[in-house]
Amino acid sequence: QLGDTALWDRWLSDEDDNNEDFLYSVLLLGDRGVGKSTLAEIFAGVSEKEEEEEEVMKDHSVYLIVYSVTDRSSFESAGELRIRLRRLRQADDIPIILVGNKTDLVRSRDVSVEGLCRRSLKKVSVEEGRACAVMFDCKFIETSACLHHRVDDLFQGVVRQIRLRRPPRPH
Ligand code: GDP
Repeated sequence: QLGDTALWDRWLSDEDDNNEDFLYSVLLLGDRGVGKSTLAEIFAGVSEKEEEEEEVMKDHSVYLIVYSVTDRSSFESAGELRIRLRRLRQADDIPIILVGNKTDLVRSRDVSVEGLCRRSLKKVSVEEGRACAVMFDCKFIETSACLHHRVDDLFQGVVRQIRLRRPPRPH
Protein backbone atom coordinates (compact mmCIF):
# COMPACT_ATOMS: atom_id res chain seq x y z
CA GLN A 1 0.00 0.00 0.00
CA LEU A 2 1.28 3.40 -1.02
CA GLY A 3 -0.23 5.28 1.89
CA ASP A 4 -1.67 8.70 1.68
CA THR A 5 -0.37 11.50 -0.49
CA ALA A 6 -0.77 15.25 -0.62
CA LEU A 7 0.55 17.52 -3.32
CA TRP A 8 1.76 21.05 -3.09
CA ASP A 9 2.66 22.99 -6.15
CA ARG A 10 3.36 26.61 -6.71
CA TRP A 11 5.27 29.06 -8.78
CA LEU A 12 8.77 29.82 -7.66
CA SER A 13 10.32 33.03 -8.78
CA ASP A 14 13.86 32.43 -9.97
CA GLU A 15 15.83 35.46 -8.84
CA ASP A 16 18.92 34.44 -10.81
CA ASP A 17 16.91 34.29 -13.96
CA ASN A 18 15.32 37.71 -14.33
CA ASN A 19 12.51 36.60 -12.05
CA GLU A 20 11.32 34.10 -14.60
CA ASP A 21 8.80 31.89 -12.82
CA PHE A 22 8.67 28.15 -13.03
CA LEU A 23 6.24 25.66 -11.60
CA TYR A 24 7.39 23.00 -9.23
CA SER A 25 5.54 20.31 -7.37
CA VAL A 26 6.24 18.64 -4.07
CA LEU A 27 4.70 15.28 -3.28
CA LEU A 28 4.16 14.46 0.38
CA LEU A 29 4.04 10.77 1.15
CA GLY A 30 3.36 8.95 4.40
CA ASP A 31 0.77 7.28 6.57
CA ARG A 32 -2.58 8.90 7.09
CA GLY A 33 -2.64 11.38 9.95
CA VAL A 34 1.07 12.24 10.07
CA GLY A 35 0.44 15.86 9.01
CA LYS A 36 0.94 15.96 5.22
CA SER A 37 -2.11 18.12 4.46
CA THR A 38 -1.32 20.45 7.35
CA LEU A 39 2.22 20.97 6.05
CA ALA A 40 1.07 21.42 2.47
CA GLU A 41 -1.61 23.89 3.46
CA ILE A 42 0.96 26.10 5.19
CA PHE A 43 2.70 26.61 1.86
CA ALA A 44 0.06 26.40 -0.81
CA GLY A 45 -3.15 24.83 -1.94
CA VAL A 46 -3.38 21.09 -1.75
CA SER A 47 -4.78 18.82 -4.37
CA GLU A 48 -5.49 15.23 -3.45
CA LYS A 49 -4.37 12.76 -6.05
CA GLU A 50 -6.36 9.73 -7.09
CA GLU A 51 -4.44 8.43 -10.05
CA GLU A 52 -2.68 5.11 -10.32
CA GLU A 53 0.12 4.69 -7.82
CA GLU A 54 2.90 4.94 -10.40
CA GLU A 55 1.45 8.11 -11.90
CA VAL A 56 1.17 9.69 -8.47
CA MET A 57 4.78 8.95 -7.61
CA LYS A 58 6.41 10.08 -10.86
CA ASP A 59 7.88 13.37 -11.92
CA HIS A 60 7.74 15.65 -8.94
CA SER A 61 10.39 18.21 -8.15
CA VAL A 62 10.85 17.06 -4.56
CA TYR A 63 9.45 14.24 -2.44
CA LEU A 64 8.79 14.63 1.28
CA ILE A 65 8.45 11.37 3.15
CA VAL A 66 6.58 12.32 6.30
CA TYR A 67 6.16 10.35 9.52
CA SER A 68 4.94 11.31 12.96
CA VAL A 69 7.54 11.17 15.73
CA THR A 70 4.75 9.87 17.97
CA ASP A 71 3.92 6.97 15.70
CA ARG A 72 6.53 4.31 15.14
CA SER A 73 4.56 2.48 12.49
CA SER A 74 4.49 5.64 10.36
CA PHE A 75 8.31 5.71 10.69
CA GLU A 76 8.46 2.13 9.45
CA SER A 77 6.18 3.04 6.53
CA ALA A 78 8.63 5.80 5.61
CA GLY A 79 11.29 3.16 4.97
CA GLU A 80 8.95 1.23 2.69
CA LEU A 81 8.07 4.37 0.76
CA ARG A 82 11.74 5.14 0.20
CA ILE A 83 12.23 1.69 -1.32
CA ARG A 84 9.22 2.17 -3.61
CA LEU A 85 10.45 5.52 -4.79
CA ARG A 86 13.85 4.13 -5.58
CA ARG A 87 12.26 1.32 -7.59
CA LEU A 88 10.17 3.74 -9.63
CA ARG A 89 12.95 6.19 -10.41
CA GLN A 90 15.97 3.93 -10.36
CA ALA A 91 18.23 5.96 -12.59
CA ASP A 92 17.44 9.28 -11.02
CA ASP A 93 19.03 11.18 -8.22
CA ILE A 94 15.71 11.67 -6.41
CA PRO A 95 15.39 14.72 -4.19
CA ILE A 96 13.91 13.39 -0.97
CA ILE A 97 13.55 14.99 2.44
CA LEU A 98 12.58 12.81 5.40
CA VAL A 99 10.30 14.80 7.70
CA GLY A 100 9.60 13.81 11.32
CA ASN A 101 6.49 15.81 12.19
CA LYS A 102 4.59 16.54 15.45
CA THR A 103 7.62 17.34 17.59
CA ASP A 104 5.34 19.45 19.81
CA LEU A 105 3.91 16.22 21.18
CA VAL A 106 7.20 14.80 22.40
CA ARG A 107 8.76 17.20 24.86
CA SER A 108 9.03 14.22 27.18
CA ARG A 109 10.26 11.90 24.44
CA ASP A 110 13.35 10.90 26.40
CA VAL A 111 12.84 10.42 30.12
CA SER A 112 15.97 10.53 32.22
CA VAL A 113 15.84 8.19 35.17
CA GLU A 114 18.80 7.99 37.54
CA GLY A 115 21.22 9.01 34.86
CA LEU A 116 19.84 6.55 32.36
CA CYS A 117 17.92 7.56 29.30
CA ARG A 118 14.79 5.50 28.91
CA ARG A 119 13.08 5.90 25.62
CA SER A 120 9.44 5.27 24.90
CA LEU A 121 9.17 2.39 22.48
CA LYS A 122 6.42 3.96 20.43
CA LYS A 123 8.09 7.30 19.86
CA VAL A 124 10.81 7.95 17.32
CA SER A 125 13.92 9.75 18.54
CA VAL A 126 15.73 12.42 16.56
CA GLU A 127 18.79 10.12 16.38
CA GLU A 128 16.71 7.38 14.78
CA GLY A 129 15.36 9.85 12.23
CA ARG A 130 18.84 11.09 11.43
CA ALA A 131 20.23 7.56 11.10
CA CYS A 132 17.39 6.63 8.81
CA ALA A 133 18.10 9.64 6.57
CA VAL A 134 21.76 8.60 6.32
CA MET A 135 20.61 5.15 5.24
CA PHE A 136 18.16 6.65 2.76
CA ASP A 137 20.80 9.08 1.52
CA CYS A 138 18.45 12.02 1.92
CA LYS A 139 17.99 15.20 3.95
CA PHE A 140 16.25 15.15 7.32
CA ILE A 141 14.29 17.62 9.39
CA GLU A 142 11.92 17.47 12.35
CA THR A 143 8.95 19.86 12.30
CA SER A 144 5.82 20.78 14.13
CA ALA A 145 3.29 21.74 11.49
CA CYS A 146 0.76 22.90 14.05
CA LEU A 147 3.24 25.25 15.78
CA HIS A 148 4.85 26.17 12.43
CA HIS A 149 8.13 25.13 14.00
CA ARG A 150 10.97 24.65 11.47
CA VAL A 151 8.45 24.69 8.65
CA ASP A 152 10.31 27.63 7.08
CA ASP A 153 13.53 25.61 7.23
CA LEU A 154 11.75 22.77 5.47
CA PHE A 155 10.59 25.15 2.77
CA GLN A 156 14.13 26.49 2.33
CA GLY A 157 15.36 22.90 2.04
CA VAL A 158 12.83 22.18 -0.68
CA VAL A 159 13.83 25.27 -2.65
CA ARG A 160 17.50 24.36 -2.30
CA GLN A 161 16.84 20.87 -3.68
CA ILE A 162 14.98 22.33 -6.65
CA ARG A 163 17.68 24.88 -7.44
CA LEU A 164 20.44 22.29 -7.17
CA ARG A 165 18.78 20.20 -9.83
CA ARG A 166 17.77 22.86 -12.32
CA PRO A 167 19.47 22.26 -15.63
CA PRO A 168 21.97 25.00 -16.49
CA ARG A 169 20.57 27.54 -18.91
CA PRO A 170 22.10 27.63 -22.38
CA HIS A 171 24.27 30.68 -23.07
P1 GDP B 1 -2.48 13.70 6.72
O1 GDP B 1 -3.50 12.62 6.77
O2 GDP B 1 -1.09 13.15 6.72
O3 GDP B 1 -2.69 14.68 5.63
O4 GDP B 1 -2.56 14.46 8.13
P2 GDP B 1 -3.30 15.84 8.48
O5 GDP B 1 -2.50 16.99 7.99
O6 GDP B 1 -4.72 15.74 8.06
O7 GDP B 1 -3.16 15.85 10.07
C1 GDP B 1 -3.79 14.85 10.87
C2 GDP B 1 -4.05 15.42 12.26
O8 GDP B 1 -2.81 15.72 12.91
C3 GDP B 1 -4.84 16.72 12.23
O9 GDP B 1 -5.72 16.70 13.32
C4 GDP B 1 -3.78 17.78 12.40
O10 GDP B 1 -4.28 18.94 13.02
C5 GDP B 1 -2.78 17.07 13.30
N1 GDP B 1 -1.41 17.57 13.13
C6 GDP B 1 -0.75 17.82 11.96
N2 GDP B 1 0.48 18.27 12.21
C7 GDP B 1 0.63 18.30 13.55
C8 GDP B 1 1.70 18.68 14.44
O11 GDP B 1 2.79 19.09 14.04
N3 GDP B 1 1.44 18.56 15.78
C9 GDP B 1 0.24 18.11 16.27
N4 GDP B 1 0.11 18.04 17.60
N5 GDP B 1 -0.77 17.76 15.47
C10 GDP B 1 -0.58 17.85 14.14
